[in-house]
Amino acid sequence: MRWTERQLAMLKEIGIRLWPNPGLLAEQDRFPLPPSSERGEGEAVALPEKAVAVGDRPVGVDAMDWPALSEAVAACTACKLCTGRRQTVFGVGNLHAHWMIVGEAPGEQEDIEGEPFVGKSGQLLDNMLKALGLSRHDTPSPDPARQVYIANTLKCRPPGNRNPEPEELAQCEPFLVRQIELVKPKIILAMGRFAVQSLLRSNEPIGRLRGRVHRYQDVPLIVTYHPAYLLRNLEEKARAWDDLCLAAETAAGLAATA
Ligand code: SF4
Repeated sequence: MRWTERQLAMLKEIGIRLWPNPGLLAEQDRFPLPPSSERGEGEAVALPEKAVAVGDRPVGVDAMDWPALSEAVAACTACKLCTGRRQTVFGVGNLHAHWMIVGEAPGEQEDIEGEPFVGKSGQLLDNMLKALGLSRHDTPSPDPARQVYIANTLKCRPPGNRNPEPEELAQCEPFLVRQIELVKPKIILAMGRFAVQSLLRSNEPIGRLRGRVHRYQDVPLIVTYHPAYLLRNLEEKARAWDDLCLAAETAAGLAATA
């Protein structure tokens, strides 16, 4: 893959520098200054328990359009996470994007802002996307091939950023399934263990699943690390960049044969 000046600047921005021989990383540049991660390290904010009773998931999720799905998520009380959330975090990006990114669960900042991947991990993700010429931000005349839609596996924040529980993942899964059906992405990037486990039904660690193209209902799916994990494990950044390059090459190959 050949890099433009802009992409090289972006790679530098995310802490990855390429030698003139593309793809070869300078060892001393693999591990830039350690930024802090906001997920799992911030102080847990004790929110007052809301007077919300856990109930049933709305029926007919599999036939909902975007407005109905968004409303159903906002009103959902199907698992106990509804009692501690400030708001649900539905998704962001172009509804017809060729790229779909699936993350794990909202963190504190996402819970406040109502958007997935904000804060430091969001900045890292946006910079990585920019380096590939991709964006989550809708423009007046966007090219869907250059756009991403981002959603999480869970729509509500687990308290204290704890790991999602199986029951919570199971209750929330139909919303993500419907989002994928509506977006109809050409390629999916699954970021983080719980996104990968949900989409691939696999308990294998990410390290064993990355580096190859999987399928989610015939859609190519690439596995990679969550940006929040990358902020705490800088040595994995170069591998994550390799994963994004694999995704870009897969998407380019699909476009060429379309
Ligand atoms: Fe509903 Fe999902 Fe929130 Fe649980 S996490 S209350 S299933 S939207």
